Amino acid sequence: MKRQLAETAKDLAAYIRSLDEDLTEPPPAGAATTAPVLSRAGKSAPAAAPVPPAASLASPAPLMPAKINASMDELAEQVKACRNCGLGSARLNAVFGVGNRKAKVVFVGEGPGFQEDHKGEPFVGRSGQLLDKILETVLGLKRSDVYIANIVKCHPMKNPADPESHGNDRPPTPDEIAACRPYLDEQLRAIKPACIVTLGSVPTKVLLNTDKGISLMRGRAYDYPVEIVPGRPVKLIPTYHPAALLRNPNLKRDTWEDMKMLKAFLETGKI
Ligand code: SF4
Repeated sequence: MKRQLAETAKDLAAYIRSLDEDLTEPPPAGAATTAPVLSRAGKSAPAAAPVPPAASLASPAPLMPAKINASMDELAEQVKACRNCGLGSARLNAVFGVGNRKAKVVFVGEGPGFQEDHKGEPFVGRSGQLLDKILETVLGLKRSDVYIANIVKCHPMKNPADPESHGNDRPPTPDEIAACRPYLDEQLRAIKPACIVTLGSVPTKVLLNTDKGISLMRGRAYDYPVEIVPGRPVKLIPTYHPAALLRNPNLKRDTWEDMKMLKAFLETGKI
């Protein structure tokens, strides 16, 4: 028992040290991206959308996916051309998702930020580097072993008229979430994961249809309330968004515990 505790403490210390390497690295202040800048989808950007109260996110999302009937490639093309909500007019790139399309675990974030909009890939900034580190140190997985997607596929901006500014991110509105949700539902139906990990309050509220925030929801696993494979429930583990760990390093331990729960589930099929 003592040996087990000592090994756990050693693992945790190694994990925290590993994450600290990222946490101490200063963000590139005002640094411009080197990714090629493509033309904006719309000529004139829509007016800034109001930031929704977080508690209102649970109800508008449909619990059953729309019948899109498309392969992942076709779905990615549909997302690229999508203008079903106002976010499609100001984005640089739609951010469909990345990773193993047969993954056992799908990580779901809130929506693309500045870096993701420029690169067209989810979780590519400092948060993404931290997520990669967590995958590697706790789960022994690479980004290419899992699938990573967001609730909305286009960058929600406080001021869409100024898309090149940093600090312009905002949470998606309930209408934007409802418009985009069928794409994520269809992605999950195609991948058929054993487990979904929600990163932060917004995806947790949307996918579990709850108004409770991440600090109340994390620490246990849930059954995802949408049937993906008949007769086989998909588990959902909520944890903090990596950006929250960058702001508050005290959350690293909770995230470690959540990822240990995921690791045990992936190894044993039990939770
Ligand atoms: S956020 Fe989703 S629904 Fe809105 S334009 Fe982009 S892909 Fe379409």
